[in-house]
Amino acid sequence: MTKLVYEKPVISKITAGIPSKFGLPTRQKFIPDIDGIPVEKIMEEYGSPVFVLSEKTMRNTFAQAKQAFETRYPKVQFAWSYKTNYLNAVCSIFHDQGAWAEVVSAFEFQKALSLGVNGSNILFNGPEKSEEDLKLAIEHNACIHIDHFDELYLLIKVTRELDKKARVAIRINLDAGIYPIWDRFGFNYENGEAWNAINRIMLAEKLDLIGLHTHIGTYIMSANAYAAAASKLANLYMATHRKFDYWLKYIDLGGGFASKNTLKGAYMPGTETCPSFDEYAEAISNALISSEIPHENLPVLFLETGRALIDDAGYLLTTVLANKRSTTGRRTMVIDAGVNLLFTSFWYNLGVYPTRQLSSHLEESTIYGPLCMNIDVIRDAINFPQVKTGEKLVIERVGAYNMTQWMQFITFRPNVVMIDLEGKMHIVRKKENLDTLTSLEQNPKR
Ligand SMILES: *Cc1c(COP(=O)(O)O)cnc(C)c1O
Repeated sequence: MTKLVYEKPVISKITAGIPSKFGLPTRQKFIPDIDGIPVEKIMEEYGSPVFVLSEKTMRNTFAQAKQAFETRYPKVQFAWSYKTNYLNAVCSIFHDQGAWAEVVSAFEFQKALSLGVNGSNILFNGPEKSEEDLKLAIEHNACIHIDHFDELYLLIKVTRELDKKARVAIRINLDAGIYPIWDRFGFNYENGEAWNAINRIMLAEKLDLIGLHTHIGTYIMSANAYAAAASKLANLYMATHRKFDYWLKYIDLGGGFASKNTLKGAYMPGTETCPSFDEYAEAISNALISSEIPHENLPVLFLETGRALIDDAGYLLTTVLANKRSTTGRRTMVIDAGVNLLFTSFWYNLGVYPTRQLSSHLEESTIYGPLCMNIDVIRDAINFPQVKTGEKLVIERVGAYNMTQWMQFITFRPNVVMIDLEGKMHIVRKKENLDTLTSLEQNPKR
């Protein structure tokens, strides 16, 4: 017989049946499997910690987003935001579903090319594009989203030298009611900078202006902000037509749709407060369709949605290493996954769950990662049942940004496993080892 877990007696107010601000008390949620595969089995095969991606969730989420927009607007094109998760297996699934590539560096540009994306289906964003990067983009006929005047002048120089035309759009920052305004990227709408940039580009012989782009921020919880942004871009689209008798091809509203994660300090869980794809699509399509733009000249609507498409599909499986009491008597746990793997734990109260029904006596606890560093806190306050060391836990909604912003620090980065539509598991990125980490090092001979 296995030894029972010792549980410290806790005194708690009886609230049975009384609704709190979150409704009636619910049972502790647990996650026994991912797409039908028991968590234990995945960890037996691929170790702990391990990232798991669900192809099914990715495809379903993408299909929902696509349907929300395509049923409301005639011409829609998604472009997968590489920096959100640029694992080849992930990008390939979105490309397979018709998404173009949205990249913000030469590295990401090359990655898209290596995955077979046609250069003309790559949107090249970001403030850092060297002369060499611009040449690469022109060579491949990509859409270059110009960020600032210095880039514009450099591009004019490069196109003249190459004697080749470049397809360009401008990034525009604007007041959509979201503060602080991300005015460090692109040309400002309100002060006339964006209009000035459009005029300069229309005058440049070797630049084909084809689109207007904005990315108002990330985790935007108001669909109306997109309506405001779309209206302003529609104004510029019409102004361009009036002055130059020319129709631009597209309006790109960037990314930023909120995923269902809960921001730190939020009163209600993200699952309750984040707009659905339908709500975003409704606001955006209303703004464009009822703008001044004649319906036969409506632009293609580009969307560079990142986190909202992948966050739910990612899980991190982890093991409890230790239980401790702090000097104040607070319950704490150490798990084998830290902030080196979970960059988003700095912004979100990530959901951490057991794999099975444990005690229903929950106690406010702190969950630490394994790093020898004080900031390695995965949850500073979470109601959690008593667990033994070795207990497996599931951290959900970690598909966005963690697998790109993770850092190599103290430990190896773990396996990333994808569960395909048939329920088969595949390693899509192998666990690092000493060789992967030292292969670039050189020790000076003395
Ligand atoms: C990061 C980024 C995106 C994706 O943003 P999400 O918030 O993940 O949807 C899209 N476009 C640009 C230009 C970006 O920098």
